[in-house]
Amino acid sequence: MRSLRDWSVRHARGLARLYVVFEHLVVAIEPLARLIGHERLERPVAAVERTIKGTLFDCRMCGACVLSDTGMSCPRNCPKNVLNGPCGGVRGDGGREGPARPPPVGVGVPEGGAE
Ligand code: SF4
Repeated sequence: MRSLRDWSVRHARGLARLYVVFEHLVVAIEPLARLIGHERLERPVAAVERTIKGTLFDCRMCGACVLSDTGMSCPRNCPKNVLNGPCGGVRGDGGREGPARPPPVGVGVPEGGAE
């Protein structure tokens, strides 16, 4: 899971472009969604969102997504609940403070935006 999350951060620009395409698609099918009923679609759409975003971003379904502002790095995964990038505890090798911890949320974001 962590490696997919890191991949998403490294490919943030491409995923942002894909998101724009998806957004246009959702707008285009809005009349159909209205016909079916938004209430009926809510659960299946949330299940698809949970699966895709959970796999790619380790999404916690917080309901206030900021992925487009954070370089596709979900800030809800930070154990310190730091929402605006790595804190002062990032080690020289990019790891978190403390033993055997994975890299913090947000590490790799600048590189991902460049791709
Ligand atoms: S910010 Fe993170 S937890 Fe919230 S919806 Fe977006 S990906 Fe999910």
